[in-house]
Amino acid sequence: MSEVRLGYTVVGAGIVGICTALSLQERGQKVTLIDPNPPAEQASYGNAGVISTWSCVPQSMPGLWKNVPKWLLDPEGPISLRWSYLPKFLPWMLKFFAAGRADRIPAIADALLQLHRPTVDIFRQHLAGTGHEDLVRDSMYVFVYRDPAKLNLDNLEWRLRLERGVPLEQIDGKTLADVEPDISHDYKAAVLIKDQGRAYDPGAIGKVLVEKFQNQGGTLLQSRAHALKPVDGGVEIVTDDGTKIADKVVLAAGPWSATLLKSHGLKVPLEAERGYHIVFTDPGVTLNNSIMVTDAKFVVSSMAQGVRCAGTAEFAGLDHPPDYRRAHVLAGPAKRLLPNLNTEAREVWMGQRPSFPDTLPAIGEVPGMPGVIAAFGHGHTGLTAAPMTGRLAAMLAVGDTPNIDVTPYSLSRFGNN
Ligand SMILES: Cc1cc2nc3c(=O)[nH]c(=O)nc-3n(C[C@H](O)[C@H](O)[C@H](O)COP(=O)(O)OP(=O)(O)OC[C@H]3O[C@@H](n4cnc5c(N)ncnc54)[C@H](O)[C@@H]3O)c2cc1C
Repeated sequence: MSEVRLGYTVVGAGIVGICTALSLQERGQKVTLIDPNPPAEQASYGNAGVISTWSCVPQSMPGLWKNVPKWLLDPEGPISLRWSYLPKFLPWMLKFFAAGRADRIPAIADALLQLHRPTVDIFRQHLAGTGHEDLVRDSMYVFVYRDPAKLNLDNLEWRLRLERGVPLEQIDGKTLADVEPDISHDYKAAVLIKDQGRAYDPGAIGKVLVEKFQNQGGTLLQSRAHALKPVDGGVEIVTDDGTKIADKVVLAAGPWSATLLKSHGLKVPLEAERGYHIVFTDPGVTLNNSIMVTDAKFVVSSMAQGVRCAGTAEFAGLDHPPDYRRAHVLAGPAKRLLPNLNTEAREVWMGQRPSFPDTLPAIGEVPGMPGVIAAFGHGHTGLTAAPMTGRLAAMLAVGDTPNIDVTPYSLSRFGNN
């Protein structure tokens, strides 16, 4: 039987894989996108839609661990843990806290920012000509505070942004009411992060871009990749539809990427950081921007489906069934934020962020696997980082030199574990 050759192949049709496929096409390649599921239906569907151009604050920050017991005990708290999962989770958690050491933060912040800065422009280039350009909208990111005393621009989080030129402005409750009339007057202070974008329907962005990819001659193969193996002249991919040979593979299978690397004996500290959303489908209120509710730590945004509240981090393993109480619990703080919100009609959802302990993704050749390029592990900002990741992964795949320093994203930063 003759072998099936696929050309350049992207494993995983989430937003990262889709952007990579388009960037490979821009470089003149014949591209196949493989996914057992319809495109953009995992994390890339249900996220909070923040296209966070200026995002540079790592998830693990100095002293964060002190809040963890309090958060775990609060049913409305931002994190939860399935206790029987703790032994598996512990090594990742220790690496996570180690990444939050003060001396590591500036370099992580710089590496995040260079991935995120070009996002709105590249998204707009990808969407151009699709007729759905309005899926990415201009937006501010509004961090709202009930207690003005809790807003201190001298805190490390804000200093990191200010030192990097993030265009932000502190406002009082009265100005907040002009910016977002439906927000409760109990919110007395806010910070506006300007000049960024938001997705009006994150899942639709993925679908529209895959349609563009196919119209440009790309192949979408509905199949699961089970194993990857570098061979002479390419990379062998074992799929549901048999074994195929790709010229190069970009691995963009979100949290499932680690499972595929395991088949090659490579262990990477990638955790499925599960998040939830609740959408109020007949909300009766509208928001003009992405809102970060700082006390409850979730994001609220008006989208095509209604008002979506998304966030929370649950550590329970990749295959554990969802606990939708984590989504419904957001209704309380959402109603406190938006007193006129109609919370009757609702939809809930769970998705898995692919998270490394130091907040940075893996972009670059997989150690010991020539021809396989990693493009996964974007955690909380994968929608934002997808366009630039796609460009970098495509450049690396075709042998071009990236226009930014990609060493911070190397998988070898984790050594052999
Ligand atoms: C609640 C929540 C809110 C978020 N909010 C934001 C936000 O506001 N802004 C932001 O920038 N980011 C946000 N994120 C993060 C963002 O959604 C993710 O980082 C991003 O979607 C990850 O994209 P991905 O393409 O890597 O993974 P995914 O979207 O998970 O896609 C991976 C794809 O790989 C496929 N796959 C799996 N196994 C295989 C296999 N063996 N073979 C082939 N294909 C396979 C899957 O079917 C899937 O389609 C949020 C995430 C969550 C959960």
